[in-house]
Amino acid sequence: MPKNVRVRFAPSPTGPLHIGGVRTALYNYLFAKKHGGTFILRIEDTDQKRYVANAEKYIIEALEWSGIPYDEGLEKEAGYGPYRQSERKEIYQKYAQQLVDAGWGYYAFDTAEELDKQRKNSEANKETFIYNWHNRSEMNNSLSLSKEEVDRRIAAGDNYVIRFKTPKDEILVLQDLIRGEVKIDTNVLDDKVLYKTDGMPTYHLANIIDDHLMEISHVIRGEEWLPSMALHILLYRAFDWEAPEFAHLPLLMKPVGKGKLSKRDGDKLGFPVFPLEYTNKSTNEVSRGYREDGYFPEAFINMLAFLGWNPGTEQEIFSLEELIQAFSLERVSKSGAKFNLDKTKWFQQQYMQRADDSEIARMFQTDILSKAENLTNQNDTKYITKVVSLIKERATFVADLWDLGHYFFETPSSYDPKVAKKAWKEGTDNLMKEVIIILDEISDFSSENIETNIKTWIQEKELGFGKVLMPFRLSLVGSMQGPHVFDIAAMIGKDETISRIQKAINQLS
Ligand code: GLU
Repeated sequence: MPKNVRVRFAPSPTGPLHIGGVRTALYNYLFAKKHGGTFILRIEDTDQKRYVANAEKYIIEALEWSGIPYDEGLEKEAGYGPYRQSERKEIYQKYAQQLVDAGWGYYAFDTAEELDKQRKNSEANKETFIYNWHNRSEMNNSLSLSKEEVDRRIAAGDNYVIRFKTPKDEILVLQDLIRGEVKIDTNVLDDKVLYKTDGMPTYHLANIIDDHLMEISHVIRGEEWLPSMALHILLYRAFDWEAPEFAHLPLLMKPVGKGKLSKRDGDKLGFPVFPLEYTNKSTNEVSRGYREDGYFPEAFINMLAFLGWNPGTEQEIFSLEELIQAFSLERVSKSGAKFNLDKTKWFQQQYMQRADDSEIARMFQTDILSKAENLTNQNDTKYITKVVSLIKERATFVADLWDLGHYFFETPSSYDPKVAKKAWKEGTDNLMKEVIIILDEISDFSSENIETNIKTWIQEKELGFGKVLMPFRLSLVGSMQGPHVFDIAAMIGKDETISRIQKAINQLS
């Protein structure tokens, strides 16, 4: 990699960042870090009509939560700012003028109504309207009108745009780091608007000016921008600037069926398509986020990394540092990457199992236990960590721990009726009363001691384990779930164990 690597993530603040956008940011981040480069955040807000006020904050927060912060950009000025395009108006104006002066751009005065009429005419002839070499001399622009007329219109304050004069009869051979060679016939390109009536550049102009001025070495972005690459390369040529290298990432696809992954797929199948929860301020609609759904950022990022890339080995669990080492654009696929909910949950479950019990306990305590009232041991970190070690195996999310282990913190308030019917037979209360006596005599109330004492007694009386252990568990848990029942008894302690059995006797006999 000879050049100084500088890459940018350049979202438009038009709403919450889709996970496809986070993946683009991630690949840029990985690429930058792998090559000792700089990861830049630039906000492309030239389209005032689509601007959403809280979107910018959301983007920054999403990158932070994902653990892929930018090195340079908004509020991290490094000599290339401002990083918000709306603050760079004068820069674009100057370059737009330069294009016109050099003959690469021209003023076009066609009104929206005129263009609409042309479009309708084309449609009537079953053609698509395209503004380029084949009709530009018939339209109202500085190529068809006299210089005097053009000057007059501009002086009179007529609305105009600046269009790109796309060269004719040329086959462009473009290089994409993921797709290889891409050939484009310039005759099919339209003369894109570069500068708008409102004094703002369009995406195309602002994007390449900024990439040039910010010394971007590699443009890594979504496949939806591949059709714009030809224009961008032509613009670099028009300015006589060296173009960056390009890499267009595969789309994220629906889990079932064809097409791009949309918010609707998420709503239908029950998964978020946004990193963080988002409230649409105008409709008050709330969209769920990976963070709020309980995913760990490391699991989320690991999952995203695999949507369009693979290391070429069997390894699937990668820390961010390992991803940086393993990542390369050569291993990014050309075809769309299908989102897979089961796999997404699998990653989360893997991170849950690998995490430190004490770390999980801390989350369990702050996110769940501390919010409830009157739980036993809800502030005992050591106790909670022990609980986590006993039940974590079956958990994917921290929230699962409550369902899996609430009985470590509270006495069951009811008993699963189906289990009760099976476990609590005639005579069970007498057996349980004897169990209480045995338990009461144990001085060191450890799991092993409880187990030995109860099992010895069962064997001596030739009772059969289920007869005793089923109602025993039902008394402590309220159902048949949970780890080793003697571990539960030891955890909650002698008094609580006995009191729960007594309560069950009272309620179930
Ligand atoms: N503003 C564009 C977007 O929203 C950026 C495209 C690019 O990276 O060139 O995706």
